[in-house]
Amino acid sequence: MRTEARLDRSGAAELDAADPLRRCRDQFVRPRPDTIYLDGNSLGPPPIATEGVVAQIIREGWGEGLVRSWENWIGWSRQLGDRLAAHTLGAAPGEVVIADSTSVNLFKLAAAAVAARPGRRTVLVDGDDFPTNRYILQGLAAERQLDLRALQSDSDLGLGSDELFRALTEDVALVVLSLVSYRSGALLDMAAITDAARKVGALVLWDLSHAAGVIPIQLGADGADLAIGATYKYLNGGPGSPAFLYVRKGIQQQLRQPIWGWFGQQDQFAMGEVFNPVADIDRFLVGTPPLLSLAAIWPALDVVEQVPVVDVRSKSVLLSEFTIALADEWLTEYGFRLASPRDSTRRGSHVSLAHPEALSISRALREQENVICDFRAPDRLRIGLAPLCTSFTDVWDALDRLRTVMADRRYENLPAATTRVT
Ligand SMILES: *Cc1c(COP(=O)(O)O)cnc(C)c1O
Repeated sequence: MRTEARLDRSGAAELDAADPLRRCRDQFVRPRPDTIYLDGNSLGPPPIATEGVVAQIIREGWGEGLVRSWENWIGWSRQLGDRLAAHTLGAAPGEVVIADSTSVNLFKLAAAAVAARPGRRTVLVDGDDFPTNRYILQGLAAERQLDLRALQSDSDLGLGSDELFRALTEDVALVVLSLVSYRSGALLDMAAITDAARKVGALVLWDLSHAAGVIPIQLGADGADLAIGATYKYLNGGPGSPAFLYVRKGIQQQLRQPIWGWFGQQDQFAMGEVFNPVADIDRFLVGTPPLLSLAAIWPALDVVEQVPVVDVRSKSVLLSEFTIALADEWLTEYGFRLASPRDSTRRGSHVSLAHPEALSISRALREQENVICDFRAPDRLRIGLAPLCTSFTDVWDALDRLRTVMADRRYENLPAATTRVT
């Protein structure tokens, strides 16, 4: 470990004392004090300010302003997009909007991209990518008679560049990749992959769901064409908050997305007869946004923007190295194996540990120990490290409780599971 931290609890406390982001967690609603939350990569916690902002919009914007408030609200998808572009995504004004879900944005941009590459029939996807990404592309491929190729990727180390570069032929229209793998946390090289794809004339659509807010992203400098991602993970926008989408300015007008809604229409309120999309990023909007959920992104970005992403990343690396050092020391003897890249330059902000009983272990942690991380099929315990909220002592305590669960074999003979969500 870089820090040479001691692995006793006072070593964790020292790391917390030296952590420049240690006060950030005070801006979030805290669960009960004995709960340790290591799942901010799945659902970020609420900023304290969010409740007041949403309440005020209900009272004043909705209650008093009523339909007149749309005059103000209608620009929010774009204004929030510009803020996210500047602080988090390394993109220019007018290249990002907030709208719809990540799944829907993936469909819109993927469909637009293949239509912009007529004659090419191949779409590449990481065979281990997040399920919705694979399913949406399967549906698109079936509808447009495309050849969808799922690339073999290592479920611990992610997609190898050789595998990808070999598959990049002149028939490839589009490559869809997650910058950080949802399962292993493997981090890809955006600039190198974008370059390689451009050389054969293919577009790359980046899913930044597990990267936005924790990995310094430079969509502009890396030459990225297309990206999407969730705002409810490390960006703390709230459950189901609308997602973002990015289209590089230079190609916006070449792309036409398949859902022709009125929010993409020129002179929207002229209620014209035929669809004529606007020339800018708004052409990727569809319909009325879920305003209360959109509103919750303002206070979320207020918190996120207080810290440069490079500083978030520095803490993320320390947290994940600390997690891995403790897992090596305490958990190997119970049959755990690191299922994330060991090299922190190749890893995002979560650490996966493989164990044949991971599902029961994850349940025992939640139900008996108030440690919330999650299970990902087939056998992964996923430990999410959200640097704005997670302390080194959280990590130490959580892994200490985990080793107790293992030592006492408390994950055995749990009552039958009653939940749908893992
Ligand atoms: C979280 C996540 C999604 C979520 O998609 P929704 O449409 O919000 O359900 C999509 N892709 C990846 C890679 C994710 O991590």
